[in-house]
Amino acid sequence: MQSSQVESSEQSLSTGPDYDFVIIGSGVCGLYQLYRLLQLGVRVTALDLNGDVGGTWFRNRYPGCRFDSESYTYAYSFSEELLNEWDWTERFAPQGETLEYLRYVADKFQLRQHIQFNCKVEAAHFDAEQSMWRVRTQDGREITTRFLMTAMGLLSVPTTPRLPGLERFAGEAIHTFYWPSEGLDVKGKRVGVVGTGSTGVQVISTIAKDVGELTVFQRDPNWCAPLHNAPLAKDEMEEIRRNYDAIFEQCFRSPNGFIHRPLREVSTDVSREERLKLWEELYDQPGFGIWLGNYRDTMMDEEANAELSEFIAGKIRSRVQDPAVAEVLIPKDHGFGTKRVPLETKYYEVYNQPNVRLIDVNVEPITEVTETGVRITTPAGTEDIELDVLVFATGFDAVTGAFDRIDFVGDHGVRLREKWADGPTTYMGVQVTDFPNLLTCVGPQSGSVAANFPRGIEDIVAWMTDFCQYLIDHDIVRVEPTAEAEARWLDHVADINSKVLMSKTRSWFNGHNVNLDRDDRPRHMIYTGGAVRYRGILADEAAAGYPNFAMTSAKELTATPQATSV
Ligand code: NAP
Repeated sequence: MQSSQVESSEQSLSTGPDYDFVIIGSGVCGLYQLYRLLQLGVRVTALDLNGDVGGTWFRNRYPGCRFDSESYTYAYSFSEELLNEWDWTERFAPQGETLEYLRYVADKFQLRQHIQFNCKVEAAHFDAEQSMWRVRTQDGREITTRFLMTAMGLLSVPTTPRLPGLERFAGEAIHTFYWPSEGLDVKGKRVGVVGTGSTGVQVISTIAKDVGELTVFQRDPNWCAPLHNAPLAKDEMEEIRRNYDAIFEQCFRSPNGFIHRPLREVSTDVSREERLKLWEELYDQPGFGIWLGNYRDTMMDEEANAELSEFIAGKIRSRVQDPAVAEVLIPKDHGFGTKRVPLETKYYEVYNQPNVRLIDVNVEPITEVTETGVRITTPAGTEDIELDVLVFATGFDAVTGAFDRIDFVGDHGVRLREKWADGPTTYMGVQVTDFPNLLTCVGPQSGSVAANFPRGIEDIVAWMTDFCQYLIDHDIVRVEPTAEAEARWLDHVADINSKVLMSKTRSWFNGHNVNLDRDDRPRHMIYTGGAVRYRGILADEAAAGYPNFAMTSAKELTATPQATSV
């Protein structure tokens, strides 16, 4: 970091609010946005409800938590010095190492002094008269800021099923998100795990060898593929370091920000023999190649996807000894890769262990939690399963959950929670009409967040920082997108999303997992048009001088009387 830049610049938007910018969150995105805003020399603070930086990587301490992005693609690319100083020790780093990395970044660039920890934001109301946000924290403070930025994570509000009797359970019941930092001893115990998404798969594979008995409660199975993790030797790390430019370039050109990118060919360009040969190779390679580096029609065309799914189903059958159990583990409701693929390490082999039992809750639902475990309904009646520990790997109120948790009130008393009740609307995922000066770095419908996270957020933070510089240069004190632009963006997101098979499945990508009645209303949480296209759209907007945003300068604001704030 050129610290001189931070010290020398003394730009300020106003003497009115306490800050020019407040960022909510100091995870991967919030930290980098903070760093970039400090470089602009503005008055900025970040608020984080956790006791340290790291966001996702601070919270998720459950056994087996690790990347499914190649570690070296997860590093920030902005500082060569940082890249030279940091060694990753595994192809896919475990949670602890990533948290250490983010702590290292915060220390190296002296970011901590600009972050208020254990600071939970409860409400944020836009004061139209002063054109600023009034942010209320749980400890009763009010912080005012001209611009409010959100970097609250996509998956930061965990959801636990409302099972009758849960409060009666005498053992330990815990959502993976709240796994204690001191650990939880499961050795020799009777453990139940509800949920088989990426988190459940990691937990199950990791604890199965240590627990006494493991009962997995599965609703819809997921298609999983091998992670192929391995230690990174010193010389491999040196090689990676020499190639960082090329690695980042490769990620930059890929629609998802990973080193994997779809092939130019479609499945039918090659013979079945060739397809199977490639799939065998990809299945044996580390990471998401089998999902993201495949024939480009496999995620768009149902027939192509069905053939790939059958290939993966064959792999599951070959790895699980009991054919009946294998069938329960093979998804029937969606094709491979049309929901996020959990990457696993010997996950399917867990079901060959005598101490592991798989329960399909579609057939044998959990009817209640008892003092000593859970009661399921079976075709023969009911059965009590005794448990010492009940783990919920049941996912998150994703993408919009963190927004709902804060009482955001915009212009004319509009509540964000209400505006988004039937699904979010934004312009380019960066702003929302009626919510002037609210800048969403990590929010719905942003193309950055559907990518390998650090790669995606470097795009959006770069764009946001340029946008902020523009606002400063033009003395803008109020900015919001036009309603037309917001409506156009929603149409575009809906159109793009309709072309991918992912939009037809039920998962957090389209809000179905928290939609308890499991209805079919489309919610466009994520922009699936890819990082490359999204980056182009952002760049065009900036190059044209931000034509889709209505802006008011300080002078104009004082000349125009505003409506009274809420
Ligand atoms: P998730 O993908 O939403 O999975 C939640 C699981 O819980 C699903 O199997 C779901 O079943 C099940 N479930 C929810 N409510 C249930 C209920 N009432 N009864 C039974 N089962 C229930 O959540 P996640 O596994 O935490 O993963 C979320 C995202 O976090 C991932 O998609 C990924 O983006 C990220 N993640 C990444 C990594 C990594 O390796 N980097 C690791 C973990 C998570 P249904 O499918 O039937 O709803």
